[in-house]
Amino acid sequence: MRQQGYLLVADITGYSEFRDPEELAHAENILRELFGTLIGQLKAPWEIHELGTDPIFACLLDGDILQGQTLLEMVEHLYRLFTKKREQILQNTTCSCKACEQISALSLGIVVHHGSFIVNEVAGAERLSGEDLAVVHTLLRNRITEATGVEMYAFFTEAAANAMSLGELVHGMKIHTEFYEQLGQHGGFVHDLHSIWKRTKESRRIYVDTKNLYFRVEGDFPAPLAIVWDYLTEPERWRQRLRANYLSIKGKSQGRVGVGCDQHCVFGKQVKTQTIVDWRPFDYFTTDLATPFRGTMRQTTQLSETEDSTRVSWYFSKPTGRNLAHTLLIKLKMAFAKGRMRRDVKKGRQIIYDLMETELAEGQS
Ligand SMILES: [Zn+2]
Repeated sequence: MRQQGYLLVADITGYSEFRDPEELAHAENILRELFGTLIGQLKAPWEIHELGTDPIFACLLDGDILQGQTLLEMVEHLYRLFTKKREQILQNTTCSCKACEQISALSLGIVVHHGSFIVNEVAGAERLSGEDLAVVHTLLRNRITEATGVEMYAFFTEAAANAMSLGELVHGMKIHTEFYEQLGQHGGFVHDLHSIWKRTKESRRIYVDTKNLYFRVEGDFPAPLAIVWDYLTEPERWRQRLRANYLSIKGKSQGRVGVGCDQHCVFGKQVKTQTIVDWRPFDYFTTDLATPFRGTMRQTTQLSETEDSTRVSWYFSKPTGRNLAHTLLIKLKMAFAKGRMRRDVKKGRQIIYDLMETELAEGQS
C-alpha cells in the first residue's frame, strides 16, 4: 500500500573507530543509551522502522498532526532529550578513555523529508520502500556542518517544508542544497537545534505557583503528549474549546506561536486577550489573561504522560490588581465568576476530548 507522510532519520556522529576493546565497548554503550533515548521518544504517532543500520528511521503519516510547528517542536524536543541524556552520561562517568572523553563532542543530526512510500508486510513486520526513503537516508551524508557551521541541525527538505506549511517558520533557518551523483540536487532548510535549545534553557520559567492557586481542572486524553499539545494549541480547535466566535494569534516571531504572542478571542461583542508568557512544548504553556475590573490572572496548561494517556492540568492563579485594595475588590467581584470559569474549562475539556475521539478515530480507519 502506498502512503504519504514525513520520513525522519536521526544519527549521532562524532566517534571515530576505536581499536582498543575497552574503548570500543564504552563507545557502543554510550551510543546505545543515546539512541535508546531518541527511540523512546519517537513513539506514536511516529512509527519506527529499523533498517538494520545505526541511524534511527521513523515515519509519520499525513494527517497525524495538525500543525507544522508541532512537527518542528517534536524535532527540537528530540534534541533536548539527547542533550539531557548526554549530560547525564557525562556526569556519571569517571572513565578517561578516548570514548568517554569524547562524549561532549557527540552531535545529533536529523533529516526530515516528505514523500510517498510503499508499506509491505514481510514476515509479520512492516517494511517500507520507495525512492523517498533513499533520499532521506542519502541526505544523512551531507556537508551541512561544513557549509553552514551548524553542528546540531535538523534539515527539512523543501518537500517537508511545503508539507508542513512551514511558511515564515523557515525565516530563521539557513537555505542549503546538497548534490548527489545518483539523486541529483536536494534543497532545504537548516534549523539550528542548539541555539533554540539554549534560548529556551536560559529563559525564565513562568507558571502558576501552587501558593497562588485559585482553582485547577484536570483531564486525561487518550493520545500521546505531542498530539494533545497539538490539539490544545491549534487555533481552530483552541477557538472551539473556548467556544469563541473568532480567535486569532498575533505577534508571532518568525511564524512561530510562542512567548510574547497575544491571543484575541471574540465572544459576541466582547473581546478577550491572553498573552503567552511561557511556552515549553510538550511540558506546559502559560498565559496571562485580563479579568473583569482590569485585573490579571495567570493560567498554566500542563501536560504529563500517564501510562496510556496524557493528563492535562489547567492551573489558574488568584486574580491580582494594581494594589492590595484593587486586588481585594477584584477577588470579591470574581467570587461569583469563579464557579462559572471552572465550568467553562470543564466544558472545553469535553469539547477537545470529543474532537480527538472523532478525528483521531477517522485518521486510523
Ligand atoms: Zn570509557
